[in-house]
Amino acid sequence: MVLSPRQQAFGEAKWRDLPGKCHSCAQLTLCWGGCAKHRFTPTREGEEGLNYLCRG
Ligand code: SF4
Repeated sequence: MVLSPRQQAFGEAKWRDLPGKCHSCAQLTLCWGGCAKHRFTPTREGEEGLNYLCRG
């Protein structure tokens, strides 16, 4: 199941849809942007998709 095309597409989308702030963040390898369902706040620059728990 982990190697299924659907799962791979989901994982790739989770990575691709991260805001630029996450891609340049020192904590990225710890949180990976968090769960997709929690990515509904904008960054300071106005980019959508930041995890609402990021400030924590
Ligand atoms: S959610 Fe916040 S802490 Fe996590 S990678 Fe993105 S910017 Fe960094």
